[in-house]
Amino acid sequence: MPDLETCKDFGDVFALVKRSVKKTLGLHRVGLMLLLGNLPMNVGAFHPMGTNEIVLNRRLLKGKTGMTERSHLFTILLHEYLHTLGFEDEAQVRRMTYKVCLENFGRNSPVAEAALTGPWADLSEEDFEQIEPELNLELVRNFERPDSGYII
Ligand SMILES: [Zn+2]
Repeated sequence: MPDLETCKDFGDVFALVKRSVKKTLGLHRVGLMLLLGNLPMNVGAFHPMGTNEIVLNRRLLKGKTGMTERSHLFTILLHEYLHTLGFEDEAQVRRMTYKVCLENFGRNSPVAEAALTGPWADLSEEDFEQIEPELNLELVRNFERPDSGYII
């Protein structure tokens, strides 16, 4: 079982996301960037289609570092990562997210729980443009590690 407890930053969690997706779905991609922004509270993250960006909701993360928050962070990054792999159908992405969590962490894990509870509210491109002045986007450095940096 992958170890979410020892993850220290976004890059660690994302490496675990990529490894889990590779294992369960056999899919993989590189070249993604993570930005933090002020999204509505019911939105975990947002992937502007056709970009290589994931915008994570900064408001959800304030000062929280426990396993529950890490589990939510894992499922949110996993969900958006699946979107960046080209899956656009929301219901399908949620099913896939849950499947990856089940296979890598088990049914009774906080990760599987987080995959069921969300937050999974949708944000349209129009919504995103509308809130742009308030977003306060900030690039997360060292988000994507070289793939040779960890052992599968
Ligand atoms: Zn989605």
